[in-house]
Amino acid sequence: MLGMSLREAAAALRCGQLNPIELYQKCLSLIKETRFLNAYINVAEDVALRQATEAEKRFRQGKPLGELDGIPVAVKDNFSTANIETTCASQMLKGYIPPYNATVVQKLLDQGAVLMGKTNLDEFGMGSGSTDSIFGPVKNPWSYSKQYREKNSGSRTIADDDSDWVIAGGSSGGSAVAVSSGTCFVALGSDTGGSTRNPASHCGVVGLKPTYGLVSRHGLIPLVNSMDVPGILARCVDDVATVLGVLAGHDPLDSTTIQDPFQTFTLPDDIDVTNLCVGIPKEYHAPGLSTETLSLWSRTADLLEDAGAKVVEVSLPHTRYSIVCYHVLCTAEVASNMARFDGLEYGHRANVEDSTEAMYSATRREGFNDVVRGRILSGNFFLLKQNYEKYFLKAQKVRRLIADDFVKVFKSGVDVLLTPTTLGDAAPYEDFIQEDNRTRSAQEDVFTQCANMAGVPAITVPAGLSSRGLPLGLQFIGQAFREQQLLSVAKWFEKQMNFCPLDFYKHLENRDICQRKSNIASLL
Ligand code: GLN
Repeated sequence: MLGMSLREAAAALRCGQLNPIELYQKCLSLIKETRFLNAYINVAEDVALRQATEAEKRFRQGKPLGELDGIPVAVKDNFSTANIETTCASQMLKGYIPPYNATVVQKLLDQGAVLMGKTNLDEFGMGSGSTDSIFGPVKNPWSYSKQYREKNSGSRTIADDDSDWVIAGGSSGGSAVAVSSGTCFVALGSDTGGSTRNPASHCGVVGLKPTYGLVSRHGLIPLVNSMDVPGILARCVDDVATVLGVLAGHDPLDSTTIQDPFQTFTLPDDIDVTNLCVGIPKEYHAPGLSTETLSLWSRTADLLEDAGAKVVEVSLPHTRYSIVCYHVLCTAEVASNMARFDGLEYGHRANVEDSTEAMYSATRREGFNDVVRGRILSGNFFLLKQNYEKYFLKAQKVRRLIADDFVKVFKSGVDVLLTPTTLGDAAPYEDFIQEDNRTRSAQEDVFTQCANMAGVPAITVPAGLSSRGLPLGLQFIGQAFREQQLLSVAKWFEKQMNFCPLDFYKHLENRDICQRKSNIASLL
């Protein structure tokens, strides 16, 4: 049951083969069994039961609400959820209960989705490992697969199981793990520099960052307003297309959403890639790219060519400045966004009454982690009167050049770009935390943030396993508002790779800690 795609589950619910309450119960048991992965900050057990019960009633009356009726979903904890705590994994918002739903959350609920809970992330979405959360790091389920254990037992001791696991990627690591461990069918992430695609790739699921302006940001707690987009994580491309159809479209509460109505689409099973022009940007041969990812990338280019597509090398010459510009623009917007957290309006307030300034300062010291404070300081530095032109304005100008590179390439006849999503497979936690957040993000976001700088859509699709037994994904980048074309190519590729997100369950290791997991396997 939990190995189905969203579409299959929806069809089974519709014809009565599946019951929403039963489906909710299976997902809930799985959430409990996989607690150790730390994917969920808050499991909305009661709310979800109520929603599943209502869905069951609707099905009984033959009046389902929409495509997602009775489907268990999860939402990253930086989307506002009415009457459900929304923390951004930060001390600052602990205990904050929004009075309204983010537009995208409301749209899911309007379709009858069952909200299983809120997922873990790097504090305020700042990171790429889901390791910087006040609720502790998220663990990648593939760390517990037999392949990974066997391949890696030689190089590190696995006596203490808890120290031998790899990161989930981030910052939407909780959402990626929630999908890849089968606890929900689809999860919302956010993507500012790669936060949906990075964990999707590391956890072996599909992750879409839609075009900026296609999906409402209302109620998504902002990180970088000019780059943030809600992302969709699911088990397959078809499911992403279904959910995009539900979420996309103008929102009067977000003035950056486009007015044109979104044409929903269903992808055909047989996709023809002949006549498709696929660009391979030469600048994406970045230092640190693993040989495995490189070979996967070039094999995929060959595969496309064999299937009749035209594959051409292209140049996006300003790519090499992108990560630095991203840093300047990201921190500058973070500095102004985070100013709202002053101890008066939301969440945490320090118990200091000497002066308003002292209260602000203590609140922010106690409420934010080092990463958030560091980004606020950098951002304010870039925005100082004497630095504004030198850094902020300059970065804005370079951003335009980066976006123009994409426009030029697409104008020259290229339909989509094919690139790696990450440099390699997921790092072991112990190695990952040796570096500081900024260095890690610079490495992890190298192939993803450019699409945010340009506002274009991008999707990661799982392609296979590395020699260490961990998932590897590849990224397709498309033209603005041409999601249908992008998802078609992604679906074609998915079919060639035939990767199953839940496969690691078949390979659970027979160790003590995996005793619990044999229960999981029996649920599937
Ligand atoms: N890793 C990036 C950062 O830390 C991505 C953030 C995001 O997409 N939310 O800025």
